[in-house]
Amino acid sequence: DELVSQIAAGEVVERPASVVRELVDNALDAGARQITVKLVAGGIRAIIIEDDGSGIPADELPLAIKRHATSKIRSLAELEGVSTMGFRGEALAAIASVSEMAIISRTADAPHAQRLDARSGELQPAARAVGTSIEVRELFFSTPARRKFLKSESTELAHATEAVRRHALARPDVGFAIWHEGKLVEQWRRATHEQRMADVLGADFVTESRAVDLAAGPMRVLGRAGLPEASRARADHQYAYVNGRYVRDKLVAHALRSAYEDVLHGQRQPAYVLFIDIDPTRVDVNVHPTKIEVRFRESGEVYSAVRRAVESVLAATGG
Ligand code: ADP
Ligand code: MG
Repeated sequence: DELVSQIAAGEVVERPASVVRELVDNALDAGARQITVKLVAGGIRAIIIEDDGSGIPADELPLAIKRHATSKIRSLAELEGVSTMGFRGEALAAIASVSEMAIISRTADAPHAQRLDARSGELQPAARAVGTSIEVRELFFSTPARRKFLKSESTELAHATEAVRRHALARPDVGFAIWHEGKLVEQWRRATHEQRMADVLGADFVTESRAVDLAAGPMRVLGRAGLPEASRARADHQYAYVNGRYVRDKLVAHALRSAYEDVLHGQRQPAYVLFIDIDPTRVDVNVHPTKIEVRFRESGEVYSAVRRAVESVLAATGG
């Protein structure tokens, strides 16, 4: 069973950034308004994520780290229209199988917090405000072959920061802070969507882009698309979301490329942050364990909506 968990973990946990992504997903699902990420050695030595969400009831703590234990989906029918970031109940079990994990959590009606040591299963009273802290130490300590695949601390830190950035762009209503070895490296306070984009991507992303807003049937495409003449047209400022979830989707990427084709002549990469909101029954997010890929029911409609949304902005600016 340990082996099965470790193999399963390989699909979800590739590096510290994957841990960060899953734990921030969980914090958001728990309704957190403030999420703090603390890293040591780029996350290889330690990843500590603190949130002020609903917390986990003491009697559910041991369950949270069991495989396929999720509090978010109760039926197959619910899986069809899943609105939470998580639903597979695999992340905590997977991470616990390849690290030293502890969970400290407290719900609003609990007299104090409880700390669960994932390895020993030991539960102890602890002190903290309502919410959850998850500590993940010594990632891949028991699988040295996997640990060897990790890059330098600074590269892992960059990936972990990028994972938080992806969440932060989608959730300006939540404050984020990233600490590395006791130093504050990023802080994004709760803000409007536009202000958050400026805070995360730089003020020039906002001044050199235009708002996109197109409704098409059960779908809405919102966000900002970079102007073709933008000095910072950059491939690393390309963010696409489906129902609030960051995706790397070929269809969306291709629709954007074709929208920009005539104005960029394939010379440069456009910057964009696009949110595609669609009736959740028309999209399958259960395609890949990390949920980074999605499958649309009406992919042609999605393709043309994204393309039209961006083209209309480019046309309006005479680009
Ligand atoms: P999933 O998110 O797919 O449900 P996870 O393995 O990520 O599965 O988490 C297992 C369960 O642990 C969640 O369903 C949730 O009940 C609980 N949980 C995990 N992290 C948090 C958190 N930060 N706050 C509250 N509950 C949490
Ligand atoms: Mg989860």
